Amino acid sequence: MTNPIKKIQVDAPTLQHYIDHLASIGWQPEGGIVRPVYSPAWLKARQQLAEWMRAAGLHVYEDAVGNLFGRLRGLDDTRTILTGSHLDTVKLGGKFDGALGILAGLVALQALHKHLGPPQRSLEVVALCEEENSRFHARYWGTRAILGLIEESQLEALRDEQDISIASAMRAAGLPPDQYRAAIRTDLDAFLELHIEQGRILFDEHIDIGIVQAITGLQHLLITVKGRADHAGTTPMDLRRDALQGAALMAVEITRLVQQEGRPAVVTLGQWDVRPGAVNVVPAEVRFSIDLRHPDAGTLQRLSVAIQARCQAIAQERDLQLSSEITGQSAPQQMDPALQALLIRAAGACGATWKAMPSGAGHDSQTMARHLPTAMLFVPSIEGRSHSAAEETPLADAARGATVLATALSLLAYP
Ligand SMILES: [Zn+2]
Repeated sequence: MTNPIKKIQVDAPTLQHYIDHLASIGWQPEGGIVRPVYSPAWLKARQQLAEWMRAAGLHVYEDAVGNLFGRLRGLDDTRTILTGSHLDTVKLGGKFDGALGILAGLVALQALHKHLGPPQRSLEVVALCEEENSRFHARYWGTRAILGLIEESQLEALRDEQDISIASAMRAAGLPPDQYRAAIRTDLDAFLELHIEQGRILFDEHIDIGIVQAITGLQHLLITVKGRADHAGTTPMDLRRDALQGAALMAVEITRLVQQEGRPAVVTLGQWDVRPGAVNVVPAEVRFSIDLRHPDAGTLQRLSVAIQARCQAIAQERDLQLSSEITGQSAPQQMDPALQALLIRAAGACGATWKAMPSGAGHDSQTMARHLPTAMLFVPSIEGRSHSAAEETPLADAARGATVLATALSLLAYP
């Protein structure tokens, strides 16, 4: 017989206060938050978090790149269970993306401290720096610092729109860039990240919690279709080598192939460039982007091959030239199975409904998971709105998620 799991209820009004107050830092008059890494708003938000952490009785410290930690010291203070998410936002982002994972971690640690006292292993909540690439294209900068994945050359090479290097931005924020290696951690046993879903599956299906199985893999392709520019009035339809007509047919076929595959496969053709781009000239060249995602590596590859083959066939039928280039990719990342099972047990103990699902968006967890046991739980986003001021999660859903997180952390840190 195993003991029944004790639900660790977080304080919902405190969570609401934190969410609203943090959202006011960097809030813009037109709606939405601007809080890029190392900016004054980011520093102010971090200062506020540090105050809340201190008031909660946590030991507060920052590392060399600016990740902020609140530590609940364990009886064994040599090993650490980490939870949290990112503090930076996209331009005009919402109140919940990233922020909720930090604040849920904070109220979870408060509840654990109050109900269970000091943990066996230390527990920490972290506000990670730079997830959204909204100032520097630094791809999980804070997480990479913790894992020792930052290369020295990146300190000068990564630059924002004003051509300020990430090293200068760090110095301006009072952080020592040359000490970035001091941020490396070797004491972490697990990372749990709570995040809003940023999609509408949980919302539509009225499910409380998403247990992330894998973070989706992604392939970016640039397709170039070449035909011939001709007079729009004198060239009969059957004699044209119209690059856009070919590319348009490809777009329809790509969409059909991915729809046929079904959820969770997604494809987006978001960038188009038509040349010469004149109203009375048959288009000679079209370039368009493909963003293809699937959480299973084999399926992603199969879809990519099928898409390229179909585009090639269309090009041949229409006497067009086709070239495709892979411009970016990231492999799918599985979440730790034992931690997924632990989250499911915690959800059950809290009376929450749950569903196993992939994450269609990238997260710090995908980098963490390559180096330490990592899992994620999602809470619903109203109508799936995200990366926008319209982002919203009801307090009941947010607090339930934080309660599941606290309960899962209790299973890890109070064995
Ligand atoms: Zn996020």
